[in-house]
Amino acid sequence: MAEFDVDLFVIGGGSGGVRAARIAAGHGARVMIAEEYRMGGTCVIRGCVPKKLFVIGSHVHQEIEDAAGFGWTIPAATFDWPTLIANKDKEIARLEAAYTSNVEKSGARIAKARAVFEDPHSLRLSTGETIRAGTVLIATGSAPNHGPIIPGIEHVISSNEAFHLPELPRRILIQGGGYIALEFACIFAGFGSDVTVIYRGDNILRGFDDDVRAHVRAEMEREGITVLTGCTVTKIDKHGRDYTSHLSNGSSVASDQVMFAIGRHPNVANLGLEKAGVAINPGNGGIAVDHFSKTSVPHIYAIGDVTHRHNLTPVAIREGHAFADTVFGKRTVEVDHSSIPTAVFSQPEVGTVGLTEMEARAQFARVDIYKTAFRPIKATMSGRDTRVLMKLVVDGTSDRVLGCHIVGDTAAEIIQAVAIAVKMKATKADFDATFALHPTAAEELVTMRTPTARHVREAAAE
Ligand code: FAD
Ligand code: NDP
Repeated sequence: MAEFDVDLFVIGGGSGGVRAARIAAGHGARVMIAEEYRMGGTCVIRGCVPKKLFVIGSHVHQEIEDAAGFGWTIPAATFDWPTLIANKDKEIARLEAAYTSNVEKSGARIAKARAVFEDPHSLRLSTGETIRAGTVLIATGSAPNHGPIIPGIEHVISSNEAFHLPELPRRILIQGGGYIALEFACIFAGFGSDVTVIYRGDNILRGFDDDVRAHVRAEMEREGITVLTGCTVTKIDKHGRDYTSHLSNGSSVASDQVMFAIGRHPNVANLGLEKAGVAINPGNGGIAVDHFSKTSVPHIYAIGDVTHRHNLTPVAIREGHAFADTVFGKRTVEVDHSSIPTAVFSQPEVGTVGLTEMEARAQFARVDIYKTAFRPIKATMSGRDTRVLMKLVVDGTSDRVLGCHIVGDTAAEIIQAVAIAVKMKATKADFDATFALHPTAAEELVTMRTPTARHVREAAAE
């Protein structure tokens, strides 16, 4: 490999790129990783981590309200947005430094620069340097969609800007019904903003189990969030510091911030992919890859959001690790993308793994549903009007648990453990043989005895 400056060049210092660079360096490869913005990427700098810190902070008001039923008198609490932002920024800077130092310790070299292909083996850096690499990994992530060009689109912020607002909006309109829209709707509502969610379809969280969708919406509405479905924002007018968003149903909403969270697109533009001969997947706009994350060019690989497969941090990390082991570790590893657990950090949060009821009914002849919605023990004393939803989707023929869906406090924590059982192909009988842990909400998962619905496909029943 002497004709090359490095064995591996990684474009992008986010979740996937950093993991791949460190593991490949550990396998003895000469590695360079380029990052044009901040080491750590979306998840660390303007995604999962700052978002979770906001979620935790915004939940405090519920804790304070709930405390009264347990005998606490808490003087009127005040909240200071600039303090939150400053402390969050400090923590993100600490993490960025930790990512940088871990990469350096692994032996990989960091280039603080944008990198683009000049030819299939050459990368041109914004610093002026050109590096020749034996293998290239594209891990450039994704960026927020701005949506259709409508009048006033220049006033719209994305999640990127939401992390740096100078002040907490008194009223905010958020368009979108997916992860980011709902997480930020609940964050802002928790901090005291008046929040309106605009969603184009009939109900939020398309792709999630229908019971989850209905439950989350009801809970958000009970907490005072307005959810308007079946409409889109068609125009935004600015008057001084206020905005009026006009909707496709003829109505309008006033606010002092307008945010769109309408999906993200893979960062494939202006990378010189055509010079390298790397093909795009016409189905999703991401870089086309095989099961080993190899692109149309044998020595170029792509992982994480830029491939637009499952846009989650643990997936990018797993793909980056598998790539490094396969190409530099003499160990062929194929990522199994089945049964990926996921959470929406709305309030209450959603935790889910495996098939939804509809997906299971489409794939299996007999499907049993075990479902319960109950008042959590805390609510009996706090008086909060809230319900927890737990649902198991079971293959009625093999008894295997195909999916688990939870809405309620700590749903994400619970689903991480349930995901082990689902991945191991546990049966409902395995769940039932497990002792309950009392008193918890999660014990419902092992105590639901009777199906609440049984679906038998006609053809299979004959
Ligand atoms: P990224 O982390 O995006 O890293 C790509 C890096 O490449 C970036 O740092 C970028 O600056 C750099 N780059 C791009 N082009 C170039 C170039 N030409 N040269 C040099 N550098 C370049 N996922 C979860 O699992 N859980 C969550 O709770 C969660 N919350 C999220 C919240 C928000 C608001 C957002 C936006 C995302 C969230 N995600 C979450 C998704 C998660 O952040 C991504 O799936 C993950 O970061 C993808 O990792 P990646 O390595 O593919 O890309
Ligand atoms: P999502 O794909 O989750 O949601 C996008 C939403 O915007 C959907 O409700 C979609 O509607 C709607 N939408 C899309 N296009 C338009 C349009 N032109 N006009 C109006 N509405 C539109 O994307 P997000 O931006 O919320 O998040 C991006 C990704 O980041 C997520 O899919 C997830 O992979 C990752 N993420 C993960 C998190 C986590 O793990 N907790 C948190 C945040 C992000 P429809 O459903 O009808 O298509």
